[in-house]
Amino acid sequence: MTDPGDLRPNEEAVELEPASDASLRFIGTIRTPWRDRKDCPRQGKLDGPECQLVLDPVWHQALEGLENYDTIEVLYWLDQSRRDLIRQSPISDGQTFGTFALRSPVRPNPIGTSMVKLVRIEKGTLVVRGLDCLDETPLLDIKPDRCAFSPKAPDKPGSRD
Ligand code: SAM
Repeated sequence: MTDPGDLRPNEEAVELEPASDASLRFIGTIRTPWRDRKDCPRQGKLDGPECQLVLDPVWHQALEGLENYDTIEVLYWLDQSRRDLIRQSPISDGQTFGTFALRSPVRPNPIGTSMVKLVRIEKGTLVVRGLDCLDETPLLDIKPDRCAFSPKAPDKPGSRD
């Protein structure tokens, strides 16, 4: 965890009540080659190293059909992030940006998302390329690539083509 007092020039933190509203369920663990944040890519690349999404066994059957997609969206919990910054200085030069104008891991709810290449599925473990998170980052969700996905239910009023 980051020391609460550890701010870069012009960065600004806020006092927060303990988070208590939504309760998330981790569905597994992400295995990557990176054990230190400074070694992680800023954003994953589809030709990056193979990483594993290790699903808890209770979710294995929930993978049915996912093998039909070449790219999938992965959501994960950037568990080592502080969560109280409203302005951040990505390169510590005093120039700041609002948290919501950045893809920084430091945010009120530190959810990371990546579109990754699905290489193969081996008994509940997905081998993928394109991640940028630390080894043992908690896994939140997996979805098919929205561009390749065809809705499985009829269209609804107001939907776009
Ligand atoms: N691709 C995701 C997104 O755009 O939502 C995450 C991008 S974020 C810039 C990626 C960076 O988060 C990594 O380079 C690393 O510094 C940091 N990071 C990776 N895993 C983390 C973790 N478990 N907890 C906190 N920070 C993490």
